[in-house]
Amino acid sequence: MEDIRNLEYRELKDLVASFAEKPYRASQLYLWLFNQRAVSFDEMTDIPKGFRQRLKERFYISHPKIAAIEVSRDGATKLLLELDDKNYIESVIIPEEKRTALCISSQVGCPLACKFCMTGSKGFIRNLRLSEIINQVFAAERHIQLQSNRKITNLVLMGMGEPLLNLEEVTKFLNIAADQSGLAFAPRKITVSTAGIAPGIERLSSGAMFNLAVSLNATTDEVRSRLMPINKKYPLKVVLDACRRYQRSRKRAITFEYVLIKKINDSLADAHRLITMLKGIECKINLIPFNTFPGTSFNKPERGVILEFQKVLLNGGYAVFIRESRGDDISAACGQLRGKLVD
Ligand code: SAH
Repeated sequence: MEDIRNLEYRELKDLVASFAEKPYRASQLYLWLFNQRAVSFDEMTDIPKGFRQRLKERFYISHPKIAAIEVSRDGATKLLLELDDKNYIESVIIPEEKRTALCISSQVGCPLACKFCMTGSKGFIRNLRLSEIINQVFAAERHIQLQSNRKITNLVLMGMGEPLLNLEEVTKFLNIAADQSGLAFAPRKITVSTAGIAPGIERLSSGAMFNLAVSLNATTDEVRSRLMPINKKYPLKVVLDACRRYQRSRKRAITFEYVLIKKINDSLADAHRLITMLKGIECKINLIPFNTFPGTSFNKPERGVILEFQKVLLNGGYAVFIRESRGDDISAACGQLRGKLVD
């Protein structure tokens, strides 16, 4: 049995054809599954019973299983989701004044092993399927519907994992999320965050107008390779060239994320190098003071150092924001998700 929500529209069309049903049944199925968020085939009353019965023999519709909910002092809510194979992933609902973002995981664990990231220190298990990515949205939507009258307004693929190493399922997800007959989010409210998988950035540029965020985190290859082993494969120049090409294809500002770690990448020389490196790319910079986790030897810089770093970049003409990570007290902040992986 397969979860039918792993099938994108094209695959639903093939499925409908293989059952010798009328082609428009694919659109009906698609609407029920992704737009109406159906939880059973029985709801699909405009689809003939016989066809529904045959679908039920081969497919099921999975339900997100929330195994635990933690609410932070600052209002961020972390959902621990149990997958059918008993793996766990985390998603974080981040309410802000005018918007509510959902931080979505793309993999169980992460293969990149960035030294400052707790998810990375716990290893990689597997890629998520389309249905497992979508179920995070449904789980969060239902959860906040019960709690408040808020709605999820923004989706950020910034949770556990590297989205561009699960490109096939992530691309399907992005297309359905931004499709007005699918999850119906505006593409400009959807952000993909990557550690800099250059070929993935290239492939992403052929899609809709999603926001791209790139985790830069250092200004020399030497330091970046030490922090992020993936830099040996895709060094700074290669990543930034991919960003430039991405930008040319869509004329949209790129977000650069920069985790500030005490005495590692927080010098004024770093700030000046950053200005030079990013010349010619229309962008904004998010500075994320390092979030600690058990076993790390890194620290967050002093407040004054963070503000000085920001000032240099502001004077360099960039839009720079200090992103205080939300949900720090419940390990829901950037780099603190681990989805209950084996300790
Ligand atoms: N793999 C993707 C998405 C997951 S990481 C990526 O690298 O972008 C999401 C963001 O959290 C990245 O910008 C990453 O640099 C940041 N991050 C990871 N660990 C962190 C930590 N301990 N403190 C602060 N930010 C961290």
